[in-house]
Amino acid sequence: MTTNAAWFERAQRVIPGGVDSPVRSFRSVGGTPYTVVRGQGAYVEDVEGRRYLDFVQSYGASLLGHAHPTVVEVLRDAVTLGTTFGAPTPGEVLLAELMTERVPGLEQIRLVSSGTEAVMSAVRVARGFTGRDKVLKFDGCYHGHSDGLLVAGGSGVAQLGLPGSAGVTAGAVSDTMVAPYNVVPTLDETVAAVLVEPVAANMNLVAPHAGFLQGLRAECDRVGALLIFDEVITGFRLTYEGAETFFGVTPDLYCFGKVIGGGLPVGAFGGSARVLSALAPQGPVYQAGTLSGNPLATAAGATVLRTVTPGDYAELTQRVAGFSAALTQAVTSAGLHAVVPTQGPLLGLYLATEPTAAPSNIAEARVLCDNGLYAPFFHSMLDQGVALAPGAYEIMFVSLAHTDRDLERCVEAAHVAATVAAKVNA
Ligand SMILES: *Cc1c(COP(=O)(O)O)cnc(C)c1O
Repeated sequence: MTTNAAWFERAQRVIPGGVDSPVRSFRSVGGTPYTVVRGQGAYVEDVEGRRYLDFVQSYGASLLGHAHPTVVEVLRDAVTLGTTFGAPTPGEVLLAELMTERVPGLEQIRLVSSGTEAVMSAVRVARGFTGRDKVLKFDGCYHGHSDGLLVAGGSGVAQLGLPGSAGVTAGAVSDTMVAPYNVVPTLDETVAAVLVEPVAANMNLVAPHAGFLQGLRAECDRVGALLIFDEVITGFRLTYEGAETFFGVTPDLYCFGKVIGGGLPVGAFGGSARVLSALAPQGPVYQAGTLSGNPLATAAGATVLRTVTPGDYAELTQRVAGFSAALTQAVTSAGLHAVVPTQGPLLGLYLATEPTAAPSNIAEARVLCDNGLYAPFFHSMLDQGVALAPGAYEIMFVSLAHTDRDLERCVEAAHVAATVAAKVNA
């Protein structure tokens, strides 16, 4: 049993759609997913022994690249000590200390096991703390798959063209309000919290306009609502400190995931000690988890945070800027157009038939994501050994393991892929 097709066939028999998360499905691009057996640095290898230059990087969970030697060594040592206890461990304290030292407004955090849990719990704290019900989110932002936030989501929700999800009751979303990204909404005193991705990275990449996040801060303050930054992607990816420092706006609550687990399942939410005192056992807001603060996950996460330096982010930002320009040029010279927005080391890619401005909300992003160019582009890249996410709503993740030569290879492949996509479209 050594082909991707055979494994996917087996998978489909026992796993719905053959995938454990819909974003991994090839539904929107067609074809059969490659089944990964190992990863090393910027590369993954499938069951057929094919190697791909990987820009999926677990949708941003991997910052150092796959199987980083230091992380592997730390995990080897950690696993021999036991993997879960149901009692406090030094590892969770060390990770919490690292994070709170680095993010200026973050005094306390609580660890959970996924980004979904982090955001769900932060919203609960905001409601418990303010005694209010309403939460406002932005169309096209993805905040995990908890019921109340599965409305107008980005990522796989947008990819599959879903307004929300079946199985979510009207009641569950009746306290969720949705507004367009990059427009500061007018709030009232029923609003507990405004939830935002400081860089929208689940409708490909939409940057916040100058003043948007500042405007949200001011509007929240005006009505006494809490501002929640969903930093599950941006946290410790955008900069050494996160979106707060990058944009100069301090939220009341922060949500983290992906990078802080070093490739293991982790999430965290936090803010000021005053707000977090609403949590049990101190306060009335209940939140819990058997595997929360898991020793393996905290060991891996803390190792990643200790390994990266501010200089790494600065250098990656600079390289990604060059990569963006080269990708744009490669696509244009093939007869298509590309919008390749960046925010720090985050990089998006939209293909277009005409010169186009960078999108500022989901409506504009949709036009570019749904124009039919991505699927042929994606498959040509894959044929050339470059793995992008199998959906136009996801961004490209450049890890610290990607070399300049890797980025050049991607640019060369993108020229060929754009030629293919231009032909299909003609
Ligand atoms: C991935 C993501 C989540 C959900 O995290 P999971 O670990 O997949 O549950 C939440 N918010 C944002 C912005 C994300 O990108």
